[in-house]
Amino acid sequence: MNLEEIASEVKICRKCPLWKGRTKAVPGEGVPKAKVLFIGEGPGSNENKEGRPFVGEAGQFLDKMLKSVGLKREEVFITNVVKCRPPNNRDPLEEEVDVCVRNYLISQVRAIKPKLIVTLGRHSMQVFFPQIRSISSVHGKAYKKADQVYLILYHPAAALYRANLKQVMIEDFKKITEILRQIE
Ligand code: URA
Ligand code: SF4
Repeated sequence: MNLEEIASEVKICRKCPLWKGRTKAVPGEGVPKAKVLFIGEGPGSNENKEGRPFVGEAGQFLDKMLKSVGLKREEVFITNVVKCRPPNNRDPLEEEVDVCVRNYLISQVRAIKPKLIVTLGRHSMQVFFPQIRSISSVHGKAYKKADQVYLILYHPAAALYRANLKQVMIEDFKKITEILRQIE
């Protein structure tokens, strides 16, 4: 499936109960052959209204960090673990994550073939590294698994509201440049 086909399916998907609460599903957006794929948790209130990922406050912070490492939103791809907003912004349930990842995220990764996958927050990290329990011990670290390189970062929303994390996040973000330089 190509990215457009995946997005069309996401928009009408009813494979998990999260469809009931959505206004718009958020398939993700960016360039089809992006070098870097960012994966957040799930749409929040603004994203649910617009159908686009990271358009709220966390998104503005993400944009700033992208800019700080010389990347534009238009040259990466940004999506989420679940494509529909969980009620009251609760955490997505394990079974919701499983269904959505199996049906869509995996296909998106296959279509994009990014050089680097950046996970944002614990839920995104645990899709690829279910054995890692605590993000605080691994944030800012890169891993290679089955020929795919990953960088684990905190979620921008968490960093936004905790001053100490914010600085850590800005530092961790610089690893993206380093990793890209190494793999290219
Ligand atoms: N938080 C996320 O995890 N994803 C978004 O798209 C917006 C906020
Ligand atoms: Fe389908 Fe994913 Fe939305 Fe659930 S969250 S309804 S699996 S697109």
